[in-house]
This record gives sequence, C-alpha cells and structure tokens, in this order.
Amino acid sequence: MHFDIVIVGGGAGGLELAARLGRQLGRAQGRERVLLVDKFPFHIWKPTLHEVAAGTLDAHQEGLSYTVLARRNHFSFTMGELCALDAQRKTITLEAIRGTGGEEIVPSRTLSFQRLVLALGSGSNAFGTPGIAHAYLLENVRDAQRFHADWLSASARASFSSEHSLSIAIVGAGATGVELSAELLEAHAVLLESLGSAQRFRLDITLVEGGDRILGGLPPRISEQAMVALQRKQVRVLTGTRVQELRKGVLLTSAGEIGADMIVWAAGIKAADANARLGLETNRLNQFAVDAHLRTSAPDIYAMGDCAACPWEDGKTVPARAQAAHQQATYLAQVLSALLRERAMTAPFAYQDLGSLVSLGDNKGVGNLMGGLAGRNFFVEGLIAKWMYMSLHLMHHRAILGTGKTVLLAVARLLQQRVSGRLKLH
Ligand SMILES: Cc1cc2nc3c(=O)[nH]c(=O)nc-3n(C[C@H](O)[C@H](O)[C@H](O)COP(=O)(O)OP(=O)(O)OC[C@H]3O[C@@H](n4cnc5c(N)ncnc54)[C@H](O)[C@@H]3O)c2cc1C
Repeated sequence: MHFDIVIVGGGAGGLELAARLGRQLGRAQGRERVLLVDKFPFHIWKPTLHEVAAGTLDAHQEGLSYTVLARRNHFSFTMGELCALDAQRKTITLEAIRGTGGEEIVPSRTLSFQRLVLALGSGSNAFGTPGIAHAYLLENVRDAQRFHADWLSASARASFSSEHSLSIAIVGAGATGVELSAELLEAHAVLLESLGSAQRFRLDITLVEGGDRILGGLPPRISEQAMVALQRKQVRVLTGTRVQELRKGVLLTSAGEIGADMIVWAAGIKAADANARLGLETNRLNQFAVDAHLRTSAPDIYAMGDCAACPWEDGKTVPARAQAAHQQATYLAQVLSALLRERAMTAPFAYQDLGSLVSLGDNKGVGNLMGGLAGRNFFVEGLIAKWMYMSLHLMHHRAILGTGKTVLLAVARLLQQRVSGRLKLH
C-alpha cells in the first residue's frame, strides 16, 4: 500500500496536520494520498488526560473516532503501532493488531510513502529512578483510565477504613502534576457530595518537586499564584525534594520517606526508546533531531510535536507543548501541500510562544498571554484564565471538526453533564 504522505501519530499535532491536508486535497484526492496511523482507535486531546484520570472527563464520551474524523476530513486512517522504518526504501512497518486474548486480528503490515511525518508524542521521564513500576504514569488514555479505576477503588476502601483517609503523592510539579492535584481535589469534593458523613474520607495530596518552585518552566508569577491556590486547597507542596526511589506505598526522597496509598509520576518528558532504533538522528530524550524546516536526518522524513527537537531561541529547543504541535501542524500543512503541487516552501518554522495557561480546578486558572495586543505580556487568573484554558481545547476541536460541530459537541457535553453528573463514577 502506498500513500504520498503518511503521518504516524494522531495526537495534538499529527491529527490536525492530517485534517488540514485532507481538507485541502478534498474528497477526491485526500483519502488516496494522505494516511494517518495511530496505535489507538480514537483521539483524545492529551492536555485533558488529568481530567480523565480524575473522572471529571469521560474518555468514552470525549474520545473522537479516527475513522469518523478521517471520513469528515478526507484522509485515510489505519490503526497500528510503528515498529520499523526503512528510510532508504521509504517504508514503515506496523505491528500486528491483536485482540484482548492476544489473537492476531490484522497481521504486521509494511506501507510505502513519498513523505513521512513522525508525530509520536512523548511520555514522562523517570530519570532512571528505581521502583518506577510502583507509580502510575499519565502518558496516554489507558494510563489515565487505569488510574481513575484504581482511584475509585481506593476511595471506596478509604471511606470504609478506620482512618477515613486516602493519600496520593504526585511526583513532578509541572503543568500535569499541578493540574492533576487540583482536579483530584475537585473530583473528591464532588464525590463527597454523594456520601453520607460516616463514609466521608480525607484526600491528602503531596506534590513533590525537585526544582525550587512549582511550574518551573513558566514565569515565576504563575508559579506563585498556583502555589497560593494549591496551599489554599491544603495540597502539601514539597519543592527542592528529589525522589531517590519508589517502593510500594512509599517514596524515598532527599527530605525523608513519604508514605502514599497511590503514587503518580508526572515528572519530565522523554520520547519512546523505540525512536532511537528507527535509524534517524535522536537526542538523549529520544527526540528526533530536526532542522528549522522540521526535516529529520533522512530525506523526506519530518518530525513534529513532542517527539521532535526543533531549534528555537538561545540554543533551546521548541518546548513540548500543545501550542507548539499545533503551530508545527499548520506549518507542515503548508510545506507538504506545496510539495504535492511540486512547489517548495522555503520559509523555516518560527515558533511563537503565545503564553501558558494552567487549570487550578474550581473554575479557576492562571497564566500569561504573550504577543497579543501591542506584543505585551498579560497575566490572567481566575475564571477568565479557566475559560481561556477551556477555549484551547475547543480550538483543537475546531481544527479537526469545524466550528459548527465543535459548538454542537460542547453543548451536547454540557447537557450530558447536567443529566449524568460531572464525575464519572463507574
Ligand atoms: C496531563 C497533561 C496535561 C498537559 N497540559 C498541557 C497544557 O495545558 N498546555 C500545553 O500546551 N500542553 C500540555 N500538555 C502537553 C501536550 O499534551 C503535548 O505537548 C502535546 O499533546 C504534544 O502533541 P503531539 O502531537 O506531539 O503528541 P501527542 O498529542 O502525545 O500525540 C502522539 C500520538 O502518537 C501516537 N503514537 C505514539 N507512538 C506511536 C507509535 N509507535 N505508532 C503509532 N502511533 C503512535 C499516540 O497514540 C498519540 O495519539 C499536557 C500533557 C499532559 C500529559
């Protein structure tokens, strides 16, 4: 099977790219020329994984089927996990698809391409910490659902225990760790509303951060505001604390032992080890080295989003964020559609940092917006910041569904929440 453009990874960046190219090529050509590959059958916007973990978002309602998205946006989709690349022959190989019992449903396949885009995302970075298997990760929807199911079980246990408490330690106070802390407390508050006083239990959250402040990658003012909000919610925040080892129910840290019923590892980012075996140049985080045109070390192979180390200002690389993946999708759509018309686009990719927004639960957020009116940097907080944060998700949906369907979907979800409640409890 051959396609002019194969995009592997249908996340924040890859899916937007496939949708843009498919729509540009139209019904007649898009499906024949553009193929999207993902190891999952449905798409969920990764910045919402902490909500899936807390149960404030239902992955089954939120997830959008790639097959339906492909039909609407005129590209082809196949499910499969990339396991090999032959850059010379311009082929990729996908693992066989297996059923829950391990039986083979679709055999391993080799596809050929004219141009390939790798948009494989990233996971967290365990930094070689021993005992990482004792922690929950939040790398994909399966991880988030697993945490959610176990969190519900642990909550049920806590409500019948003599201590009436549940402790969760979250390692890493970047956006994921901070947002997960706030979301879990919000979910816990909703859960308590449905429990009698004898069943109620305390939720103790400890956020452990190796750096000297939370949200270390964001401006200090955002860290300070987020810190105030978390402390108001009684989250125990330990900065400057290095985790040395994880054991069942305990973290060994530079500040001593911390006991926890559940441990979540939300520190650092690292792309898949398998990336380094594809024969392309990679860095120590397994990200593909790309130039300012998002070209990897092999001709006609591009990489974008979290899995790409793209040069930026002051010797840094473009940060692993949804807005970077979105901007790179827009850029590559222009580059690739020009190439399909046998033209060349010479302008390099220029990342524009538009600021950051962090959700702090209870309809509150905090963040900064950059490069807006007169190029100034605005600080936003409270409900406005939360609305802006939610609008980013809507903008992603708009890029893959169009305006009308995004509005319909948002209204449908609001109505669903009114009927079924905000928290997924099953
Ligand atoms: C909890 C959480 C909160 C976040 N909050 C924010 C935020 O507020 N703002 C922000 O800017 N960023 C946030 N991020 C980061 C943001 O989600 C990522 O930067 C963004 O999703 C990167 O997009 P991507 O397309 O590179 O990768 P992803 O969105 O991760 O997509 C990668 C895709 O590749 C697929 N894939 C992976 N390997 C293979 C393979 N071998 N074969 C086939 N398919 C494969 C995956 O299934 C996935 O669909 C958050 C991340 C997390 C985890």
